[in-house]
Amino acid sequence: MRVAEARDLLLHLGVRAQKSLGQHFLIDDEVVKRQVQYASIGKGETVLEIGPGLGFLTSELLDSGAKVVAIESDRKFCEHLRNRFSDSIELIEGDATRIDLPAFDKVVSNIPYQISSEITFKILERRFKLAVIMYQKEFAERLVAGEASAIYGRLSVMAAYHADCEILEVVSRRSFWPEPKVDSALVMMRSRPPKFQPKDERLFVDVVRILFSHRRKMISNGLIAGAAQIGLARDEMRALVPQMPYAEERVEMLTPEEIGEIADFFWDIRKHKK
Ligand code: SAH
Repeated sequence: MRVAEARDLLLHLGVRAQKSLGQHFLIDDEVVKRQVQYASIGKGETVLEIGPGLGFLTSELLDSGAKVVAIESDRKFCEHLRNRFSDSIELIEGDATRIDLPAFDKVVSNIPYQISSEITFKILERRFKLAVIMYQKEFAERLVAGEASAIYGRLSVMAAYHADCEILEVVSRRSFWPEPKVDSALVMMRSRPPKFQPKDERLFVDVVRILFSHRRKMISNGLIAGAAQIGLARDEMRALVPQMPYAEERVEMLTPEEIGEIADFFWDIRKHKK
């Protein structure tokens, strides 16, 4: 455990860990080692690390032969990382949710939890070999959830669309300093081409969003409520209900592919409207 080291470093930098920025350091060496092992890094592979903080994971990544590209928003931590690693890592000082991600083969990160959704969607849009990311446990469970589960949602559908995802292990809050209020989990995502190809991916993404913002409603009612977001008047949507696939189901029971069928239905409607 590296509590003393983390505390000394912060003291030296003249800063405190800011919980609002997700600054909880992974101080458990065994977990750090396993996280890197899970990624089975080949020599020279480029690994993206988001939020390297004090660089504990970074240094293990470098030892494994990775070429590390890291994005850190905290100026003081960047200063420390430059001193510690100089040219052996490529450090981007900035907000990972706002910048275009650089090229990478793999992602290995213990991220700040408040940007979990945004950064995950951003990573999933890319093709990569794999990602081993530490999330809040509850977020990890939603990410890997399947249909018919109470926590299945937009995140689960988009993750399953782009990647094979699994929880590798649950990590105790005691592995972090300062100790967070919740446990964490390491998740593996292997990016792959989608298992089905919607006729229009953006329309699919929109339909997923609309349906899950009305997750308790029947598909037909959810789509009537969100009609404007796919460019239809509510009355037009009402008129389509008899032909609509899965109209009487609830979205939480549908597989990503079935949701894809609904999106394709609208693609055909749009085509005929033109
Ligand atoms: N990975 C380190 C630190 C985790 S704490 C470890 O395992 O110990 C999360 C880190 O993310 C902090 O260093 C914090 O400054 C940084 N961070 C917070 N928001 C960020 C953002 N939007 N973009 C990049 N880094 C961010």
